Amino acid sequence: MLGTTIKDVSGFTGNFHVVLSNGVELDVGAIIVATGAKPYAPTEFNYGKDPRVLTTLDLENGKTVDGRNVAIINCVGSRTSGRGCSRYCCAVGLSKAIELRSQGKNVVLIYRDIMGVDPEVEDLYKKARDAGVLFIRIPRKAELTEAIRMDTNKLIVHDVELGDDVEVPFDNVILNIGLMPSEDTDEVSKILRLSKDQEGFLMEAHPKLGPVDTMTPRNIHSRCS
Ligand code: SF4
Repeated sequence: MLGTTIKDVSGFTGNFHVVLSNGVELDVGAIIVATGAKPYAPTEFNYGKDPRVLTTLDLENGKTVDGRNVAIINCVGSRTSGRGCSRYCCAVGLSKAIELRSQGKNVVLIYRDIMGVDPEVEDLYKKARDAGVLFIRIPRKAELTEAIRMDTNKLIVHDVELGDDVEVPFDNVILNIGLMPSEDTDEVSKILRLSKDQEGFLMEAHPKLGPVDTMTPRNIHSRCS
């Protein structure tokens, strides 16, 4: 039902009554909540002003990298200011690095940690290493813009392994962006009386024992479906 919103939900577990904006009323036993997410809109590293700076989403949307030296910066919009790990973007960054290497680019991937939520990420990491992607680890807790400074055509990066700054020349910088809660999450949480976490995502009953259950029994949520 495209263009339809939920106006009201009443009832209890196994017997919910849902009223939609188009007037349709439904009696359902359980509700699956899929509020989705939206990509972080970066302002860091001159994104939007410097045409050499792109995001991983820009690459997905067909933009191309012209230069030979490419630096990928992980965790843009994640793991800072109370936001946690977006959990999907390490895999994206590694895939893009491998793709760019296959096009003959020199690729440096700047990261805090490689978070592999499934074994496929470990394989991607090995493939990227074998393909000649260079990895530079920056301090976990530092703000990206403190650990990475942008000069005219080079990044000055604090390398944790060396304990010193290194210069990374670039023609293009790719920002590996995280996810934010979608705009509708607030409204849905109010209508369904669901808790949100500090980032504004709907909260699961338990991160490990009930990752798709809500605190209200028989509601099931799926953050990014
Ligand atoms: S790039 Fe990796 S570590 Fe950083 S937020 Fe994304 S998944 Fe987490």
